[in-house]
Amino acid sequence: MEKQNRMSHVLAIPIPAQGHINPMTQFSKRLASKELQVTIVIFSSKVLKHTRRLGSVQVVTIDFDGYEGKISLDDYLKQFRATVTRKLPGLVAELSSSSGHPISCLLYDSHMPWVLETARQLGLVGASLFTQSCAVDTVYYNIHEMQQKKIPPEKLLVTVSRFPALAALEIADLPSFVQGMESESEYSSLLNQVVGQFSNFKDADWIFVNTFNTLEEKAVNWLASQRSIKPIGPMIPSFYLDRKLEDDKEYGPSLFKPNLEGCNEWLDSKETGSVVYVSFGSLAALGGEQMAEIAWGLKRSGCCFLWVVRESERKKLPINFAEESSGNGLIVTWSQQLEVLAHRSVGCFMTHCGWNSTLEALSLGVPMVAMPQWTDQPTNAKYIADVWQVGVRVKANEKGIVTKEEVEGCIREVIEGERGNEIRRNSEKWMKLAQTAVDEGGSSDKNITEFAAELARKFHHETWK
Ligand code: UDP
Repeated sequence: MEKQNRMSHVLAIPIPAQGHINPMTQFSKRLASKELQVTIVIFSSKVLKHTRRLGSVQVVTIDFDGYEGKISLDDYLKQFRATVTRKLPGLVAELSSSSGHPISCLLYDSHMPWVLETARQLGLVGASLFTQSCAVDTVYYNIHEMQQKKIPPEKLLVTVSRFPALAALEIADLPSFVQGMESESEYSSLLNQVVGQFSNFKDADWIFVNTFNTLEEKAVNWLASQRSIKPIGPMIPSFYLDRKLEDDKEYGPSLFKPNLEGCNEWLDSKETGSVVYVSFGSLAALGGEQMAEIAWGLKRSGCCFLWVVRESERKKLPINFAEESSGNGLIVTWSQQLEVLAHRSVGCFMTHCGWNSTLEALSLGVPMVAMPQWTDQPTNAKYIADVWQVGVRVKANEKGIVTKEEVEGCIREVIEGERGNEIRRNSEKWMKLAQTAVDEGGSSDKNITEFAAELARKFHHETWK
């Protein structure tokens, strides 16, 4: 290939979890639309091996699955790091020569900060994508800094919850791994993992965050005072935002198979705004008692509902519930979530508040019933209910269970009455702001353009040296 035809080539490396693959895929598509060559590596034995391209993005798969609990999390993470570190140099060399476009940048999930070492060894640009909210990043960053200074956990928790750049947080609003940090909790390796995202925060060449300026102005400005960060979100398919990228209607590689049979027809048959969509994402596992309360709460609300219950969770549903509620309710093992949220019949989203789900509902103007489970979800729920005011948050009883009465009450609050109207107005406002951020010349679009231009400039400068 002629030297002048060669393009700067980005290798995107998400961790093998749906909530991380999705934003990295979208970022890759956006970069590919800005005259960069982009390849994404998917670690999975499940994702179709014949997926070689997603539009303009090249896909390679490496057999290494997400965490399934067969070994300890620490051991899994060690194996993952060892595998990636071993395979990356060969992959970079192979892709550079097979495509004719030399890899010039490793774009990695912030949960694998150690990729920066490989980037340095290979003389490549190292760029990290943070896939959670900037508020949550700010919490973890501060914990990282305070741990370095040996500040004791109790003091640290109070300082973080009162941090001026964040909404006033109760302990229960903090990410779950942080809430438990005073004790030797089961979460300690996860806490190390999330805090470890900041181990070389100041050294990476670029830091991207899947959020947008107006959504988290205070947190973005504060974190940007520590080092340059670039908000580039919301990273959801263009069809649901600016409609500028052709054929960009779905994320792409899915670790789950949607069962869509009858789903669209069912939604089509319902009245506008009448359906409650319920999903707890790809990882959260609820207890049997909690599942039953949700089931009866949905029934009591009298609303139609579409409920995603993953195959592994299905046994927790009350006996005969699916059969008894058929007609009014549809239970599926996995959905095309964006298509569902965009459907006119969906009036509210009962969600675990995973960051992608939150951004999706926000970008599509769908009001939420926030039912956080763990990790960053409590903090996202706090912002949904109290800062952006695009939903209500359920309250658990003294046993930690959200009762059927509470489920019913929250659904009614969001769907009916004056509070519901106010929430809908706020949801529309945020929907427009999300679109503005990614549309041409918007704050997120500008950051992506700047990165692409800078990579191209550096690449051509070095090629012609
Ligand atoms: N998702 C989907 N179908 C489902 C449930 C979830 O496509 O039935 C997608 C959803 O659109 C989102 C991702 O899976 O992009 C889940 O990410 P999130 O951060 O919301 O939650 P996590 O699964 O990481 O807890």
